[in-house]
Amino acid sequence: MSGRLNGKVALITGGASGIGLAMVRLFVAEGARIVVADIQDDKGRALEQVHDGRVRHIRCDVTQEAEIAAAVALASTSFGGLDILVNNAGICDMMPSITAIEAEQWDWIFQVLLRGPALGMKYAAPLLAARGGGAIVNVASVAGMQAGWGPIAYSTAKAGLLHLTRTVAAELSPQRIRVNAVCPGMIATSIFGASLGMDRPAADQFAARVAEVCAHAQPIPRAGQPEDIACAALYLASEEASFVTGVSFVVDGGLSVGPRHAW
Ligand code: NAD
Repeated sequence: MSGRLNGKVALITGGASGIGLAMVRLFVAEGARIVVADIQDDKGRALEQVHDGRVRHIRCDVTQEAEIAAAVALASTSFGGLDILVNNAGICDMMPSITAIEAEQWDWIFQVLLRGPALGMKYAAPLLAARGGGAIVNVASVAGMQAGWGPIAYSTAKAGLLHLTRTVAAELSPQRIRVNAVCPGMIATSIFGASLGMDRPAADQFAARVAEVCAHAQPIPRAGQPEDIACAALYLASEEASFVTGVSFVVDGGLSVGPRHAW
């Protein structure tokens, strides 16, 4: 099937790499025009070149309210409106302990992973409503569903994002705006290596190794790829999910249901 997003305009935060980049490619292939809002200017500009006329990039730090507002406004000025918001931009800390984590780390993680998506929805909702409805997809994590699966602030922020998703789904339903979350398991992107201070090639190698290790334990024994999450986001953003709102859609190769049977 193709053309599932024909005529649609989507704003994807963190669209310059990893899962967000896979979404940009898939959504464009399905007919959408995209605003990419990311702090990586060079990669965003490169995407504009590759997808000439279908992708606009704006440098946007989701911790900055005015920059989020500007990204949403760009959808209007460039493409005439907005139908889909994907709150995907993310970082990861590596702090496992409640006694060790500093107040500043809580603030930083919460600003990117929770306040950023909240502000994205605040500014996008009126534009989605103006088109007669739309879809919001928040990229959460299985770490937000189960304790011990991620760093403490990251996991707590993702749990908050899942609740925010349900709450806003209820609030915006009269405006025909659906709000859902996708919960990736371990996906081979550079996010974890980057949080350990690795450069890009080392972070990519690290990601591939971590995803392989998880693959041995999970029921579907292969490394999760950004495209796996992009496909789920496409479904949630498309009309095929017109009866779906407020869900936490787990895409983790079965990691969260338990270990693969060895016999
Ligand atoms: P990634 O590092 O490849 O991509 C993250 C993107 O977000 C980058 O392009 C980065 O520049 C951008 N970004 C970071 N901070 C930003 C900010 N303040 N403002 C705007 N953009 C910012 O990582 P990824 O794995 O593709 O992560 C995408 C989302 O998926 C994140 O929300 C992450 O928490 C979530 N996730 C990832 C995994 C995984 O295993 N990779 C698992 C669960 C959830």
